Amino acid sequence: MQIVDPSYTIQDDLDKASLVVRLEACGRICYKSEDLINNDSALPFVKKIAAHGHNSVMEMAVVTLGVKCTDEQFDALLALEPKYLFIDRLDSEVLVTASIRSLRELYQRAGKTAIVEAMVAFMADGHDYLFEGVWDGGHGQLAENNIEVRKLELAEVETLSPELLAKHRFSGVLFITNRAVTHEIVRHRPCSFLQESQRYCRYSQDKFDNQVTFIKPMFYEEGTEEFALWQKAMEDTEAIYLKLLETSTPQAARTVLPNSCKTEILVYCNLAEWRHIFNLRTTPAAEPSMREVMIPLAAEMKERYPAVF
Ligand SMILES: Cc1cc2nc3c(=O)[nH]c(=O)nc-3n(C[C@H](O)[C@H](O)[C@H](O)COP(=O)(O)OP(=O)(O)OC[C@H]3O[C@@H](n4cnc5c(N)ncnc54)[C@H](O)[C@@H]3O)c2cc1C
Repeated sequence: MQIVDPSYTIQDDLDKASLVVRLEACGRICYKSEDLINNDSALPFVKKIAAHGHNSVMEMAVVTLGVKCTDEQFDALLALEPKYLFIDRLDSEVLVTASIRSLRELYQRAGKTAIVEAMVAFMADGHDYLFEGVWDGGHGQLAENNIEVRKLELAEVETLSPELLAKHRFSGVLFITNRAVTHEIVRHRPCSFLQESQRYCRYSQDKFDNQVTFIKPMFYEEGTEEFALWQKAMEDTEAIYLKLLETSTPQAARTVLPNSCKTEILVYCNLAEWRHIFNLRTTPAAEPSMREVMIPLAAEMKERYPAVF
């Protein structure tokens, strides 16, 4: 068995990647199949994910669009009560931040609404593979509706006022932590999540060094009797898990794995939700292993976005 410290990484690299590369990198966390990423793997992976209906992967990329439309067209969008879109009416245009999933599903529900059609047409123009099975070429109203859509680059989103920045700037964080912490993190409903799957990952495989990895508990000092007891429990559990894998599947064998088991979870949400998470998860009332990762993360976010945090 292996014991590692918890950690987190703000996904800056993925912010710079293309949509499809980003979606592949996120999706492969579930299967721990990052070793299969190469120059040609992203497109087929994302197409397969979309076809199989693993829709939460399609939540892991958002775009911010600037839309020039009439008040009536804007009102028609609001009348749809789109739940997962972040919308602001500015003087010059409407700002809409939406994930690929939310745009796909909004089009399926209300593709005939002019502003929805215009936004999805704009996105499908450059990224048709993301809208396969959804985008049907539109309803022929684009020219007559005269709605202009543009994409805001991240650098432009970062120049928005603090209130708009908090709402429209999404940030992904990859946590390597224990299963108790991830069980709490997933209670934050506005976030999108992808997590290493104990159903797909078979820790007896070479790529996992044929062993289970556990997160070092911050409660027990190494060298103490308590730590030794904890370590013995993990060793025994690992032995039973590996034995069960000889005759059963990972989803069956995982039933013996404990809270200390290492897992990876990608959490993606806007800065306003990160602010809410930090308010709840960094105080003395919060679980200490949660605070262990959230306090330094909150400090790093504050350094980046002092006006928001
Ligand atoms: C110290 C601590 C102890 C806890 N103890 C327990 C416990 O013993 N048992 C337990 O089950 N949980 C416990 N929790 C989890 C807690 O109850 C929340 O589920 C979790 O913190 C998510 O926070 P949230 O509901 O404020 O907001 P999030 O889910 O992060 O949502 C953010 C915001 O979205 C809005 N929102 C989202 N969904 C809805 C909705 N359906 N209706 C209305 N508004 C919505 C709200 O404005 C909310 O503030 C604990 C959390 C903490 C921090």
